Amino acid sequence: MKTNYDVIIIGSGIVGSLIARYLSRYELSVLVVEKQADVGMCPSSANSAIIHAGYDPKPGSVKAAMNAEGNKIWHTLAPELGIMHKKTGSCVAALGEEELPVLNELLENGKANKIPGLEIISGKDFIKKEPLINPLVSGVLWAPTAMVIDPFGAVLAAAENAVTNGVEYLFETEFTGFIFNDNTITGIHTNKGDFSCRWAINAAGLYSDEVAHKAGIRKGFKIIPRKGGYLVFDAAKFQINNVLFPVPSGLGKGTLVSVTTHGNILIGPDNEPASGKEDTSTTASGMAAIISGAKKLIPTIDERNAIAMYEGIRAKGNGDRDFIIERPDEINAFINICGIESPGFASAPAIALKAVELMKEGGENFKDKKSWNPVRKPFPHFHRMNMEEKAALVKQNPAYGRIVCRCEEVTEGEIIDAIHSPIPARTYDGIKRRTWLGTGRCQGAFDYPRVIQILARELGIDETEVTKKGKGSELAFRRTKWL
Ligand SMILES: Cc1cc2nc3c(=O)[nH]c(=O)nc-3n(C[C@H](O)[C@H](O)[C@H](O)COP(=O)(O)OP(=O)(O)OC[C@H]3O[C@@H](n4cnc5c(N)ncnc54)[C@H](O)[C@@H]3O)c2cc1C
Repeated sequence: MKTNYDVIIIGSGIVGSLIARYLSRYELSVLVVEKQADVGMCPSSANSAIIHAGYDPKPGSVKAAMNAEGNKIWHTLAPELGIMHKKTGSCVAALGEEELPVLNELLENGKANKIPGLEIISGKDFIKKEPLINPLVSGVLWAPTAMVIDPFGAVLAAAENAVTNGVEYLFETEFTGFIFNDNTITGIHTNKGDFSCRWAINAAGLYSDEVAHKAGIRKGFKIIPRKGGYLVFDAAKFQINNVLFPVPSGLGKGTLVSVTTHGNILIGPDNEPASGKEDTSTTASGMAAIISGAKKLIPTIDERNAIAMYEGIRAKGNGDRDFIIERPDEINAFINICGIESPGFASAPAIALKAVELMKEGGENFKDKKSWNPVRKPFPHFHRMNMEEKAALVKQNPAYGRIVCRCEEVTEGEIIDAIHSPIPARTYDGIKRRTWLGTGRCQGAFDYPRVIQILARELGIDETEVTKKGKGSELAFRRTKWL
């Protein structure tokens, strides 16, 4: 196994994967170490999925600059990497005359952040665009440059593009400490052994405080995890036309009601303390808060049409809560990225480019790779094809004619594609996130046994070794009639 790299990136969330993608254009050996079994497990795949326009962060902050720049980049990056996205714009809806002044404050904030196209629309006009909105709506801040994205699809696309351009990924590989030569980082310790490098990059998200402490810096910085839960609605039962935010409260942007790239409506998040960085448990009180928050915007929401719920974990930093993106003076060969809470997803391309710029300023002499291909083609999605395209695909490979997930119309061919892709899906959740199988009304009830069989066959393992999301989450513990 190769153990010597130019650059090691710790973490394969959206930030780490985009850094890998941008570095893959240069003549460098790059390794990404990820402790989970797949890219972008959480929070990069459990969030509101909005590429925020950038009117919200405090003017002059790193967050404001990264959000404005990141939003711009996503508009060309998403099509380049074949990522599902919808250019929806977003709306902040004021209810009653008393909330109207907040829209003006956000508009002024947005102007200071140089966000294009912001305008306030009257409540009367907005009801024509969104008939289900609370009739108390008095005005709306319209941000045309916001969009919704498939968050896991975005992380995967960046990582796949990095891999096809030569970056290596190691999964279930946990960073445990740095190797130093005086004040220069020369490598890392992991549960799979030591690796040496000329640069190390902290993109560990929720754990970025602990990684920074192991580098001996930012001792006072701490991430306080907070839960953000969501409910997903049956697409056939509930539809709206927009991304709707309430006016923000002291706790954040509030509970939104939003369209998604896959056609479902999403409501959330709540804002509850987490017992730890892995606490993704849903609670009745959290879900009740989400439903009552969402009903303020769309009073007719019927929670009986919800088909799934999940929690994301916010990487809320202490102090001024601004993003930290730095090449610390105290240590050589280290880029430290900490406290990337919302709008971290929208900001990620700008954060990744900033990391590359910091390496340049630190003396790295980048040489372009002639073979670099910035374009990544997405997998074929049977569900979204017309009848002629479907017939052609089945003719080419009969596995596309075998439907495994009935609700979302996902075929065996797509599952096999996902297992043999540049970042191979090796778990049930890996298949689910890549193909959208198991996300419909039955939530996987019919497809589990078939997916377990296909994974076992394609990976050459026993069915009892197939997991939901990595070691410890095996789906079957013995065969029936074994004894
Ligand atoms: C509820 C919620 C809603 C949000 N909504 C939005 C939104 O609508 N728009 C927006 O712009 N932002 C949003 N965000 C914020 C956004 O999701 C995050 O800012 C972004 O995903 C952070 O990405 P990251 O790569 O920095 O971190 P992460 O996604 O946390 O990735 C870090 C990776 O590092 C790995 N790792 C950690 N420690 C180690 C180790 N020791 N060894 C190896 N690997 C390690 C982790 O397993 C993980 O895969 C939201 C966040 C939450 C929680």
